[in-house]
Amino acid sequence: MVVTRFAPSPTGYLHIGGLRTALFSWLWARRNGGKFLLRIEDTDLSRNKEEALSAILEAFDWVGLDYDGDVVYQSQRFDLYKKYIDQLLEEGKAYKCYMSKEELDALRAGQMARGERPRYDGRYRDFTGTPPEGVAPVIRIKAPTEGEIVFTDGVKGEIRIAASEVDDFIIARSDGTPTYNFVVAIDDALMGLTDVIRGDDHLYNTPKQLVVYEALGLTPPRFYHVPMIHNEQGRKLSKRDGAMDVMEYKRQGFLPEALLNFLVRLGWSHGDQEIFSREEMLEWFDPHEINKSASSYNLDKLLWLNAHY
Ligand code: GLU
Repeated sequence: MVVTRFAPSPTGYLHIGGLRTALFSWLWARRNGGKFLLRIEDTDLSRNKEEALSAILEAFDWVGLDYDGDVVYQSQRFDLYKKYIDQLLEEGKAYKCYMSKEELDALRAGQMARGERPRYDGRYRDFTGTPPEGVAPVIRIKAPTEGEIVFTDGVKGEIRIAASEVDDFIIARSDGTPTYNFVVAIDDALMGLTDVIRGDDHLYNTPKQLVVYEALGLTPPRFYHVPMIHNEQGRKLSKRDGAMDVMEYKRQGFLPEALLNFLVRLGWSHGDQEIFSREEMLEWFDPHEINKSASSYNLDKLLWLNAHY
């Protein structure tokens, strides 16, 4: 059984980069008779926007990407995450760090002045003394200090990074709320994900997530990190060239089939075929065939496809 997901943070509108990874995930699940799940990553309560969430659901509805089961909201799972945090503390796999923001800033400034990468120095890793007064601690996980973290990415191939590159990173903020890399690993495991297809801006979060899987004895999914969509000048998409709310395409008269056809071709191909019916995408799409390099947004191509449908 293949289980995939789309896991947006409702901090802004859904734009085409997100819709493309959602489409890839949806196609791969449906092609295999599997499940496609929707999870809203709203743990950073201060950044959530109500209208962003409804725009995401509206866009899914417009293009016809259906998901299985109920939408999972991370903000409703804090008790669950807390259980895992307590478990790691009890097992000595995580610890409280009482470093203040000022101390952390000073540490970083010193490292940068010496030309070093700014990083946490592990000073509370084995701390047994009396905690300083008035500092609410963060919780850090013990990352391995030796060896390599290795995984095989379905798009990029084998990824190896020195364990020393991964700090003892924060899994719970001083207000107790858990952080992205921690909850994403827990949820992907508990929701039974087999295949995670997402933007390659998350490639170097994966080693951190693997640290969480390892500490909790959970099994990681297969990962596929999809290169970004650039504009025709090879730069990050801006509002003018596609980084807008997907629903804007609807308002401008684009057809959902044309948009999906356009998106599936951004980073994936099947011979030199340009026009794909939904059935054909479902028959042929395979994330292992996603291009290793960034793809480029071309409005003329979208207009051409739209005229075809
Ligand atoms: N919530 C993350 C984002 O919107 C995606 C997380 C993931 O796919 O692992 O960038």
